[in-house]
Amino acid sequence: MKTVIFLAPPAAGKGTQADLLKETCGYVHVAMGDILREVANNEDEIGEYVRETLSSGGFVKDEIVYRLMEQHLSKLSDKEGVILDGFPRYIEQAHKLDEIMKHLKRKIDFVILFDIDKEILQKRITGRRICKDCGSIYNINFEAQSPKVESICDKCHGKLYQRSDDNMDSFEIRYQNYLKKTYPLIDFYQQKGLLHIVNANRKTEEIAKDINNIVMGKSEKND
Ligand SMILES: [Zn+2]
Repeated sequence: MKTVIFLAPPAAGKGTQADLLKETCGYVHVAMGDILREVANNEDEIGEYVRETLSSGGFVKDEIVYRLMEQHLSKLSDKEGVILDGFPRYIEQAHKLDEIMKHLKRKIDFVILFDIDKEILQKRITGRRICKDCGSIYNINFEAQSPKVESICDKCHGKLYQRSDDNMDSFEIRYQNYLKKTYPLIDFYQQKGLLHIVNANRKTEEIAKDINNIVMGKSEKND
């Protein structure tokens, strides 16, 4: 099965698109952010380090990221399609990923770049609220995505909270970091002929359709 990399700034809707691709094509979503947030709950040295790094808007060091990524990928069978989200973030990681993929006898099939305006990202970041109990995600900056009752989950009546790294300062750091570090990555994958650019300023379904066409179009040709 295929391996797809999603390249996108924070809050560009990568997670939502990964979920949709999971539904339509059975892909497994491997999100570095989720893996790190899980590790951040651990009461050990690595957990504490990751927790502090995330809340300051920084990046977890490579050796830990590589170890976690290889662990995760090695658990999957080669029959499973994979969406990589939040990794690689920059060129050194892309080279390392090539090595990891070689170990695991996989290859990268597509790299999808989400092209999206900064103002939309800011609104999504500052308005995002998450249910403590069921993990449902809301956004108070968009009427259609707001909870019916303030701070309460529609589905389970759990309390909504704001992630500690969902603030403007932390966003600006992450966004500038993204711009600076992603350009070489874009070049790298373009030269390999793997890069596809999707206009992510549109509706979720429209973006999903484009992504599906990329992933399915190529697999029809090759298989
Ligand atoms: Zn809930």
